[in-house]
This record gives sequence, structure tokens and C-alpha cells, in this order.
Amino acid sequence: MKLIQSAAFRLTLWYLGIIMVLSLLFSFALYRVSYDQMAEGVHRQQNSISRIPLPLSLENRRADLTRALDEQLDDTRQSLLLRLASLNLATLLLGGAAAYFLARRTLRPIEEAMEAQGRFTADASHELRTPLTAMRSEIEVALRDKKLTAAEARTLLGSNLEEIAKLEALSAGLLRLARFENGLDASVVLDVPVKDIFESAIDRLQTPLAQRHIELDVVVGEETVAGDQASLTELVVILLDNAIKYSPEKSTIKLRSAAAGQTVRISITDQGSGINASDVPFIFNRFYRADRSRSKDKVEGYGLGLSIAKRIVDLHRGEIGVDSTPAQGSTFKVRLPISQQPVKHPVFG
Ligand code: ADP
Repeated sequence: MKLIQSAAFRLTLWYLGIIMVLSLLFSFALYRVSYDQMAEGVHRQQNSISRIPLPLSLENRRADLTRALDEQLDDTRQSLLLRLASLNLATLLLGGAAAYFLARRTLRPIEEAMEAQGRFTADASHELRTPLTAMRSEIEVALRDKKLTAAEARTLLGSNLEEIAKLEALSAGLLRLARFENGLDASVVLDVPVKDIFESAIDRLQTPLAQRHIELDVVVGEETVAGDQASLTELVVILLDNAIKYSPEKSTIKLRSAAAGQTVRISITDQGSGINASDVPFIFNRFYRADRSRSKDKVEGYGLGLSIAKRIVDLHRGEIGVDSTPAQGSTFKVRLPISQQPVKHPVFG
């Protein structure tokens, strides 16, 4: 990615700049201290020499000695400067490599987020294009037909309406997903009774439950979880809605909740189609739909529900998993941190 490359380059320069400024300051300080000490030593020696009483004939010798000490000081100073310059050159080279390594490491999470964003956009565009292409080709064929009857036109409009409903469902799913990408608003995190979450979720799914004559078997205690009630209700709605969608009519779905140590365990068990073991590792990925459900035309969906569910669970620092047997049913299990207080009050932030 070009953007990341140039950001890495600029960050490397910044890091290297900081390393070099520190190195130069350190060298300067070292130089000053060492040189001052050496100069002081030389001056002390020169003073001692000047104080030795000598016959006039040896005065020249004294001057030579003083000059030799000055020259020695100059040589040592130059060799010190040379060593410090080599040290700084080595710092520049090694620091350059270290700065580049650090820059790549710093940018890695951003790069990953950008890659994920890119994949998401590509997947979303692909999913949006499918119903649009279907609508377009139907309309084009109808427009070419000179003898299109009113009844045929009505059928076409009906079919278009179905595609539009799919597009609406997809964009609603994408919006829900985007909403949870930004994390939880700390102000809405409270101690929520699981009973309330179950009640609101069941309330929202009354219509499909009645349509499919599905019976609910609910066991829930007084346990509360620390979280955002709306998101947690959404989580149970997604899992319960799937259980309803993938279950045969007149079957029973079990909804359970119980405190277990520092967590609350929630499980949703259906007697539905189950999930192949080969699909299980992928069902929480965005847009993933198990083949079994692809072939079943009547089960509508975009493979977004479970990825949203996973995101909600992650935001609550919980865990989600599934046990499933094809043709027998599935149990989706969620573990959430238990809240310590039985009454509602903000816990984070
Ligand atoms: P969608 O249901 O819209 O396809 P999800 O992300 O909710 O998307 O689910 C992903 C896939 O996981 C589904 O396509 C389906 O194959 C499988 N799945 C989810 N829940 C169940 C369930 N309760 N029973 C059987 N299969 C399920």
C-alpha cells in the first residue's frame, strides 16, 4: 500500500531524527566533559613544569615540553572527535534500520485496519451489486419486449420490490455492523438483568415465532451482566432469529442463562439444520453463509448476523462459540462478564 509506504518512510525519518538528535547531544556532552578533563590535566602539568626552577640554559627545554603537551592535547582531541564521528555514523546506520523496523511496527495495526476496511468495502460492494444486477437485467429484458403486458409489468415490479427489500436488509445489516465498529459508548454500559434482555429479544421476534409455530423454553435467573442493554438485546435477537430461521416449524428452542463464577453463560439451542464442522470456523466471518443455507433458497440472509453478534460479544469482553450437529441442531453459547452489583449504575467511565 502506497500510503502506508510513504507514512513508514516519514515515520522512519522522524524516529531517526530523534535518535540522531539524542546521539549528537550525547556525543557533544561526552566531548565537552572528556576534553575539559584532558585540558585541565594538561594545564595542571604545564603549571607544574613552569614552577620547576631551572637554569636559564634549560628554559628552551621547558618551552618545548609545554608545546609538546599542547600538541598531545590537540591530537587526543582530534582522535576523540574522530571516534565520536564514527560512533554517530554507526548510530545513523543502525538507527536507520531500527527506526524503519519501529515505524513498520507502529503502522502495522493501522495497516491491518485499512486492509480490513478495504476487504469490507469490496465484500459489501459485491453483495450490493448482486440484487442490483438482477434488477437491471430484468428491467432491460422487459424494456426490450415490445409486447409487454400490464400483468407482466406488475410481476416485474413485484420482483424488483423483492430485490429492493433485500437491498434494504443488507444496508440495515451494514449500518448495524458499522455502528458496532466504533466500540461501545461507556455511558450506556450498565448492570443489565439477563431476564430483561431475554424479554425484549423475545418481544421483537414474536412474529416469526408465531409464523413458524416455534415454542420457546426459557430458563433465566436473577443474574445481571455488565453491558449495553440495546447491544446485548441485539445479540440475543440475532442468535434467536437464526435459531428460528434454521429450525423446522413446530420445534422447540431452549434459551438458558445461568451465573458461572465471574461470568454469565447464555445458550440458545435449536433443533434445526445444524452446521457442518467444516463451516463452523467461518460462520462468525462477515458475509459467510454455510453452503447448506445457500442452497436453501427460503432462508434469507447475508451472513452478517453472526459477525455482528461476535463484535458485540468482543466489545463486552466475552466469548461466543457453537456446538452443532448437522440435521440435529445447534447450541450457540455466550459467556459474558457478570456484573457485581444487582442494581443499575454505570460501571465504566
Ligand atoms: P445469515 O443467517 O444471514 O446467513 P449469519 O451470520 O447470522 O448470517 O449466519 C452465518 C451462517 O451460519 C448462516 O448462513 C448459517 O449457515 C449458519 N447458521 C447460523 N445460525 C445457525 C443456526 N442456528 N442453525 C444452523 N445454521 C446456522
